[in-house]
Amino acid sequence: MHTPTVKQHARQLWRFHGGLHLPDNKALSLQRPLRTADLPDRLVLPLQQHIGEPAEPLVRVGDSVLKGQKIADNPAPVSSPVHAPTSGRILEISDQPVPHPSGLPGPCIIIEPDGQDRWATLPEPITDYRSASAGTLRTRIRESGIVGMGGATFPSAIKLNPGKPIKTLIINGAECEPYITCDDLLMQTYPERVLEGARILLRLLDAEECLIAVEDNKPSAISILHTHLQEQDRIEVVSIPTLYPSGGEKQLIRILTGLEVPSSGYPAQLGIVCHNVATTAAIADAVLEGKPLISRIVTLTGDGIAEPCNIETPLGIPASDLVVQAAGYTDKVSQLILGGPMMGFDLPTDQIPITKGANCLLAVSEAEAPPTGATLACIRCGRCAEACPAKLLPQQMYWYSRAKDLEKAQDYNLFDCIECGCCSHVCPSHIPLVQYFRYAKTESWAKEKERREAEHAKQRHEFRIARLERLEAERKARLRKKKADLKKKPARKKASGSDGSKKAAIEAALQRAAAKKAQRQTAPKNTQNLTAAQQAQIEAADQRRAEQAPPANDTIREEKE
Ligand code: SF4
Ligand code: SF4
Repeated sequence: MHTPTVKQHARQLWRFHGGLHLPDNKALSLQRPLRTADLPDRLVLPLQQHIGEPAEPLVRVGDSVLKGQKIADNPAPVSSPVHAPTSGRILEISDQPVPHPSGLPGPCIIIEPDGQDRWATLPEPITDYRSASAGTLRTRIRESGIVGMGGATFPSAIKLNPGKPIKTLIINGAECEPYITCDDLLMQTYPERVLEGARILLRLLDAEECLIAVEDNKPSAISILHTHLQEQDRIEVVSIPTLYPSGGEKQLIRILTGLEVPSSGYPAQLGIVCHNVATTAAIADAVLEGKPLISRIVTLTGDGIAEPCNIETPLGIPASDLVVQAAGYTDKVSQLILGGPMMGFDLPTDQIPITKGANCLLAVSEAEAPPTGATLACIRCGRCAEACPAKLLPQQMYWYSRAKDLEKAQDYNLFDCIECGCCSHVCPSHIPLVQYFRYAKTESWAKEKERREAEHAKQRHEFRIARLERLEAERKARLRKKKADLKKKPARKKASGSDGSKKAAIEAALQRAAAKKAQRQTAPKNTQNLTAAQQAQIEAADQRRAEQAPPANDTIREEKE
C-alpha cells in the first residue's frame, strides 16, 4: 500500500514572459477511457522518427520479424533505432508519405502483421536499477529507441549524458497545448510507470530532486500521482498555472526555478534536465521490462472526429486507420492537423503513419478554426513581442525572414523561437509569423549544411594537396641522398683498391670462356684410338652410303633425256 505523501507546502513559482490564456478544449477527448488500437493490415515505420541521422534497415523484404525486434539502426552519435511493433513479414522498404511539414516522402519499412503478436527475446529487465551503472541504463535507453515523445523527438540517452552535475530533474507533464490529453490520460492510467521512470532518471543523473510539473487544469492526474508517491521519494508533483506555453522547456524551467536558460544555451548548464512524462514512462518499460518503444498514446479529437478519445497505438499505424477506430470523421471536418492547434501542422492526407513524436490527430471544423482574414502589412503594434514567451522581437525576425536576410534574422535570435505560435495568434494583421520563422530556420540549416559540406570538401582538398607535397618532398630528399651517396662511392673504391681486383676477375673470366670454346672445337673422343677392324667397318659403311645416295641433279636430267 502506497503512503500518500502530498507535499503540501507551497512551492514558489515564477512567471515567464508573454504567453496566452487559451480555451483548452481538453474535455472533448477525456470523455472516454483509454483504448488500445486494433492492429491494421500494415504498419509503416519511417526510418527517421527522431532528430539526427536516419536509421538504416537491418532487415530485407520477405524477412519475418518478431514484436520488439530491432529492424533499423544507425551507429551515429545522434540517432535512434526502430523496432517492430508486432510480429509479421517485411512487405516493402520504400519511400512513403511521412508526417512532416514539408509533405515530402521518406524511407519506411512496411510490416504486414501476422496477427500473432509474438515477442522477440527481450533484454533482461534491470529491476535493481539502483545498483546499475549510469552507462548501463543509458545504453538500455538508447537501444530501446526512446526519444522525446512530447514532440521534440531528440534521442533521450543523449540528454541523459549532460556532462555536468545535475541538481534538478524536471518531468514535463504540463501538456499546455489545447485539445491534447494523451499525457493527462497516461498520468491518470499509468502513474506507476511515470514515477518509476522518474526514479530511474533520478538515479541515472544522480540528481538531488525531481519535479513533476502538471498544469492545474489536470486535477485528476495531479491527485493520482500524489497518491502513488512513496515516503522515500525525492519527487515532488508540482501543480503549475495553466498558461500557454508552460510546457516549453525554457518556460517550464523559468516557472519552477526562476532561472533563465541563456540564448543558445541548454538546461544542463543550469544543472537541470527535462523529460516528458510519456518519455519517462517509456524509460521505465525499457529498464524494468526490457521493452523497446513500439507504441504510444495518441489523442484523436476535434469536432471533425465522431468519437474523440485517446488510443494506445502501435507505431506505424496509418492515421486513417486510427480515425476509423475513433468512429471516423464527422461531416463537420474541415482540416486535419498533426499535433495541437498552436504548434501542429496541417496534414494534406491521413495516409501517414503515427510516429514516436505524434501526440495528437486534430480534425477541426470550420467553426473551430475559421479562416484567418487576408494578410495585411505589419503595423508595428508590438503585440507579437508582448506575447512572445522567448522574449523575442517577432516583427523584426519577420522582416528579415521575409527579406531572406537570414543572418540578420539570426541576429534577432531566430533559433530561440520555439514556434509556439503566440505571435501569429495575436497579430492583428494576420501575418503567419511562425511559418516565416520555420522557413527561415529551414533555409538557415540548409545553408549551414552547405557551408559545412563546402568546408569539409575544402579540408579534404587541402589535405590531399599537403599529402602530395609531402610525398614529393620525400621523393626529392631520397634522390638527393642517392646522389650524395654516389659521389662518395668512387673515393671509397680507390681507397680500398677494389678497382684492380675487379680487372683481375674480368681477365680470369675471359680466360675461362676461351678455354671452354677451344674444348668444344676438338674432335669427338669416340673416333680416336680405333682398331684396324673398326676403321675397316667405318670405311665399308661410308662406301655403302655413297652407293645408295641419290644421283646428282645433272645425272637425273641426263637419264630423262
Ligand atoms: S503583431 Fe503583427 S502587426 Fe503587430 S508588430 Fe507584430 S507582426 Fe506587426
Ligand atoms: S513563435 Fe517564436 S517568435 Fe512567435 S511567440 Fe513563439 S517563440 Fe516568439
